[in-house]
Amino acid sequence: MWQAEASIELGAIRANVARVCSGTSAEVMAVVKADGYGHGAVPVARAALEAGATRLGVATLSEALELRDAGITAPVLAWLLAPGQPREQAVAADVELSAASLTELAEVAAGAVTVGRTARLHLKVDTGLGRGGAQPRDWLELVEAAAKAEATGFVEVVGVWSHFACSDEPEHPANDSQLERFAWALDVAATAGLRPTQRHIANSAAILTRPDAHYDVVRLGVAMYGLTPIAGRDFGLRPAMTVRARVALTKRVPAGHGVSYGLTYTAPAETTLALVPLGYFDGLPRAASNVGPVQLGGVRRTIAGRVAMDQFVLDCGDDDVHAGDIAVLFGPGDDGEPTADDWADVLHTINYEVLTNFGSQRRIPRVYR
Ligand SMILES: *Cc1c(COP(=O)(O)O)cnc(C)c1O
Repeated sequence: MWQAEASIELGAIRANVARVCSGTSAEVMAVVKADGYGHGAVPVARAALEAGATRLGVATLSEALELRDAGITAPVLAWLLAPGQPREQAVAADVELSAASLTELAEVAAGAVTVGRTARLHLKVDTGLGRGGAQPRDWLELVEAAAKAEATGFVEVVGVWSHFACSDEPEHPANDSQLERFAWALDVAATAGLRPTQRHIANSAAILTRPDAHYDVVRLGVAMYGLTPIAGRDFGLRPAMTVRARVALTKRVPAGHGVSYGLTYTAPAETTLALVPLGYFDGLPRAASNVGPVQLGGVRRTIAGRVAMDQFVLDCGDDDVHAGDIAVLFGPGDDGEPTADDWADVLHTINYEVLTNFGSQRRIPRVYR
């Protein structure tokens, strides 16, 4: 009998991927970093590939190797490696890498020489995000060095890419200016003799709102998991994750009884309290104290008092709730339960963080349906 679980509907992931595929002529790279946004990288990768994605994207080398160890042979790009990370291991495992500086280019080339194979490389340009990527002023030098590296046979520049700062605000002028700079960067790369077949800049929000940003490949993240990349806009996606727990204990308490550390909640009348065995270790932030929405007994309630490390309390009034009943923290919303977007609202964060918080916790086993 489970105590708490994250139930993952792989059919929802397949449906979301298929929808995106049908709306673009670009290849779809399923982004399964951060353990598939908390849904499990390997099962999500398999589901996405079945549904039409042709590539996978992750941040770190260990995330890429996890996919290879699971026997997944589809192309994988890993875009965030620190200096000294074993590029040769990536090249040997047929993992595509990114470079945004001469140093990174040299590391990739050296790794390829070590294993005697050609590294498949994506050059990243900073078109305005100010995070990863080469600055425009350094771009010409980088693409020329990459062209020289290609001539050795150990590096093949297969991609040129960038990332948006404000794609979740479709009207933001930065989107157009980033696309202009991206077009310029592609021209410079072509002039240097590079022939990348994977030009990519679009994440979920741009996939859904900027067809002119699709190029050859789109990088599909949060929308694949069924959540909207643009707060308040409904794209008809199906959320894949439901987090729930069984009530451990219920009891009657008199009016005026305090609840949990600090007694920040007081029962206004004699009431039934229900103890739910999930806490901040499980990814339920303490900031959800007195605000987090939870459905129990068919009714949406608000967490009463502080969230503790392992547990929290719901004030159920005179409702008929019992130990063993199922409390739903969030799900697709089919039965009126809260959604990850509702949680994002009360926690003043984005749905991405809600998913990754809950989805990777050791005490909440994932169950696939
Ligand atoms: C996480 C990530 C994505 C996916 O973004 P979504 O908004 O979830 O679609 C795409 N590209 C890069 C570089 C990322 O880090």
